[in-house]
Amino acid sequence: MERMKRGEKMNYKQTRMWDVDNWDGKEPSPPEIEEAGLCISRGEAVAFPTETVYGLGADARSDAAVEQIFAAKGRPGDNPLIVHIGERSQWQHLTSSVPDMAEQLADAFWPGPLTLIVPKNNAVSEKVTAGLSTVAVRMPEHPVARALINKAGVPVAAPSANRSGRPSPTKAEHVTYDLDGKIAGIVKGGGAGYGLESTVVDCTGEKAVVLRPGGITREQLTRVLGEENVAESAGLPQEEAPKAPGMKYRHYAPSSPLVLVEGSMHEAVKEAQREGKTVGIMAVDEHHADLQKYADVFIALGSKDELSDIAARLYDNLRLADQSRVDVIFCETFPKKGIGEAVMNRLEKAASAS
Ligand code: AMP
Ligand code: MG
Repeated sequence: MERMKRGEKMNYKQTRMWDVDNWDGKEPSPPEIEEAGLCISRGEAVAFPTETVYGLGADARSDAAVEQIFAAKGRPGDNPLIVHIGERSQWQHLTSSVPDMAEQLADAFWPGPLTLIVPKNNAVSEKVTAGLSTVAVRMPEHPVARALINKAGVPVAAPSANRSGRPSPTKAEHVTYDLDGKIAGIVKGGGAGYGLESTVVDCTGEKAVVLRPGGITREQLTRVLGEENVAESAGLPQEEAPKAPGMKYRHYAPSSPLVLVEGSMHEAVKEAQREGKTVGIMAVDEHHADLQKYADVFIALGSKDELSDIAARLYDNLRLADQSRVDVIFCETFPKKGIGEAVMNRLEKAASAS
């Protein structure tokens, strides 16, 4: 297929599925990944697994390719994308300079679920950065993601592969549900280990600022940079233009209202039922026996002692909640420590969008 021209609309009747679930991650990579990589290098949008969530990737240097991502997702144009690289050396081609703290963090956590905001150069499409002077860069760890980016031979701009506003996809089926017929193809390859998006850290100021909590915890960042070099983002003044513009949009939300319950779940449920509402409860396994009898639908989130498992399954569970079609969903809360900070960030956004 010819490289897409600017503004050209692509209408995929059929989205291809490349199944590489059985690949062990060792070289050589299977021909399916080569084909998918070729699609990206030709300017098409392809979904692929990463260790965080499934991404929807396109050539970060091409306006026309990047426009397909925004169109397929229905994503607002002023919400910038993360550029994914297959090898550390590739980021020299995207940035004008790499701040020391970004090098330190990349040393410690790449490849992995950490996105670094650094000054951009002209190779990056303005569409990717929504006109900002900075670019968000990540080197993923997932072997399929790495192999695909390397086969494509270009930096790959990739947000999560969901329709804008919906929970991010952690399984190929989620991508199919949201984007079938709207993108060139989906590489199906193993689950997303973390299940929540990367931590986004702004490295352009005096101190590192966590713009979005994620797979790499604040405690891990602090251990590398020192407490004094990581800003408490909660204490920052409200800026007019948010530093992570994506933060202002509706996110992760099931279609039934989601309510986070800090106090008594019994009371919250009883009150909703008095109003004649059907109720879904999302809670830890340990509360299953006690709470199940109160709910029309009970979704077990995992053991309270395994918060990383709860994180890994959270989006799948939000999609399940979505399908339950109850009038209201009540969800337990978690301590904002370690990965709990990211879990609560996503739950609070999903709840505030309801
Ligand atoms: P998503 O691609 O949906 O996982 O979201 C990417 C996140 O990174 C969003 O919150 C974006 O606003 C944020 N982001 C991407 N590029 C930049 C940038 N140059 N500066 C600040 N935040 C960014
Ligand atoms: Mg997203």
